[in-house]
Amino acid sequence: MADREAPGDAAARARDLLAFVDAAPSPFHAVAEAARRLRSRGFVPVLETESWPTLPGRYFLVRGGSLVAWSGDAGAAAGGMGFRVIGAHTDSPNLRVKPQPDTGRAGWRQLGVEIYGGALLNSWLDRDLGLSGRVTVVDQGRLDTRLLCDDRALLRVPQLAIHLDREINQTGLKLNPQLHLTPTWGTGPVRHGEFVDYLAGQLKVDPAAVVAWDVMAHDVTPGTLAGRDDDLISSARLDNQLSCWAAVEALATVEPDGGPVPVIVLFDHEEIGSTSASGADSDLLASTLERIVMAGGGDRDAFLRAVAASRCVSADGAHATHPNYVDRHEPDHLIALNRGPVIKHNANVRYATDAVTAAWFEAGCRDAGVPVQHFVSRDDVACGSTIGPITAGRLGIPTVDVGVAQLAMHSIRELCGSADPAWFERALAAFVAPAA
Ligand code: ZN
Repeated sequence: MADREAPGDAAARARDLLAFVDAAPSPFHAVAEAARRLRSRGFVPVLETESWPTLPGRYFLVRGGSLVAWSGDAGAAAGGMGFRVIGAHTDSPNLRVKPQPDTGRAGWRQLGVEIYGGALLNSWLDRDLGLSGRVTVVDQGRLDTRLLCDDRALLRVPQLAIHLDREINQTGLKLNPQLHLTPTWGTGPVRHGEFVDYLAGQLKVDPAAVVAWDVMAHDVTPGTLAGRDDDLISSARLDNQLSCWAAVEALATVEPDGGPVPVIVLFDHEEIGSTSASGADSDLLASTLERIVMAGGGDRDAFLRAVAASRCVSADGAHATHPNYVDRHEPDHLIALNRGPVIKHNANVRYATDAVTAAWFEAGCRDAGVPVQHFVSRDDVACGSTIGPITAGRLGIPTVDVGVAQLAMHSIRELCGSADPAWFERALAAFVAPAA
């Protein structure tokens, strides 16, 4: 594929991506930021516990750290047009605060944390870390769950000085997750109940009202354009909030036209295998699609016909070729930054892509003027996976796995190209609203 010029608005789109990621230190905040953007474009929230509107329109629902949004005429889906689904995930590997976190020794106050997902643990050392997530409190006898975000440099996991580990550069860093990842957050003796007091202060409630939390650490350094020519993006959580951002922005630009109903689904819990009440292995997507059809006047048969007419793009980060480790990559499938979306292939269906789905995605990109690249792992390097095979397996919707190329996947600080978000947004918009 010949080089194409980057989209003219690429830098502005990259900055908009960074605004999304900086506002989304936890999956709950990713959903809140997606919801905020959708509301501002006329999307209306619906609740799973209530009946849904039967009129065509723009809607979204939130389940925990997951969100589904759609736009258009449910009657069109019920009438056999089906859906165009974009799936992505809101979660990223990180450190999560334990239920009884107040700990410490040797004159330090520390917070006990559990490791979530396949984090590159070394990347969490010597970073200024804030806290975010959600906290459940008792308010006038009722449970209420509130968002928490504190961008101060509260926590730190200090590295051991080289003078105390002279061989480390020769033998490599070995980190025991139980012993070596516990962040500091102050000096002096351990204060039992201190974390609850902290949460209560942040939420302006009585400490006795704090019941439980899903709170996690995040890098407080904002994302930035980077490199000599600003052709890179250095940021947390590019895997996979870049895809969440592109899905939201693609959906928001689509004008409903009575064709296939565009749907985006942003799942929590991809990094830990997707089995949860809101993950890709839950009923979230299937039940939402069925209810859209029912709201459009369809029955079970109409739902199954709609599913059979549907297509899905599973959007998730892809591995760019690392210049210092070129031998870790398949030599005939090298992947560059700023050369467009990557179609991910795996013969053992760790990615859901097949000949048919790759062909329609590539054709859509060609029509939209977007270049594509093709990725396959080395046969002697284990292949990652995505939500693609999971949702395809649950629903039987033909699916293609695609994503933006990046380095340092699962590091606290990842790296991608600054032209690729705009390419990807354009590719996803072409998918949900194909030119007639
Ligand atoms: Zn991912």
